[in-house]
Amino acid sequence: MPLEEIRSRIAKAEDQAGRAPGCVQLIAVSKVQPDERVEAVLQQGHRCFGENKVQEAAGKWPGFAEQFDGIDLHLIGPLQTNKARQAMELFDSIHSVDRPKLASTLARLAQELGKCPELFIQVNTGEEQQKAGVMPSDADAFIADCRQLDLPIKGLMCIPPVEEEASLHFALLAKIAARNGLKGLSMGMSGDFEKAIALGATHVRVGSAIFGARTY
Ligand SMILES: *Cc1c(COP(=O)(O)O)cnc(C)c1O
Repeated sequence: MPLEEIRSRIAKAEDQAGRAPGCVQLIAVSKVQPDERVEAVLQQGHRCFGENKVQEAAGKWPGFAEQFDGIDLHLIGPLQTNKARQAMELFDSIHSVDRPKLASTLARLAQELGKCPELFIQVNTGEEQQKAGVMPSDADAFIADCRQLDLPIKGLMCIPPVEEEASLHFALLAKIAARNGLKGLSMGMSGDFEKAIALGATHVRVGSAIFGARTY
């Protein structure tokens, strides 16, 4: 079972890093996967999932939630402000807070809805033009602004550049989190989650290693 294998690799990585067993949360990234693969993972008792598009998640998760209790849904992709309300109603966590306008929209909606998902601020550790996230040099100020808005900031998230050593990016993210007193670190995917755990990841986002390759 790929899920069991990933769980045991996570446990081993926690152990090797001297971290508490179970301290790393596995987010099974189900974007684009056929429903039967997702259902098979739900049947095995897993409840924590990640999606990168609000619309796609809205199309499939309310149905699964009727069949399975305790689903914990994470938005890991970019969020447009005009979808913020829907995202706040659908997701338990949002990993992609990356700009002031989105932060202020989430703060306003949190007041209105009387609740807010747990939030992660995405940092563009590789300073890539095409990638979302605040620049590392702007992160401290943006974190402070989000706190000023009373947003429940749990931690930071990054997606390292594909062609670079991921560990450098994980270490940078951990450093920014530590100096800002943030405990959550959403980092590590199918190819590098063990490295991320060694550097302090609290949430790993693993898709293809659990579900198989995505066919678009
Ligand atoms: C798709 C995706 C993942 C999972 O990627 P895999 O390589 O399939 O594990 C993780 N994080 C984000 C932000 C993604 O969009």
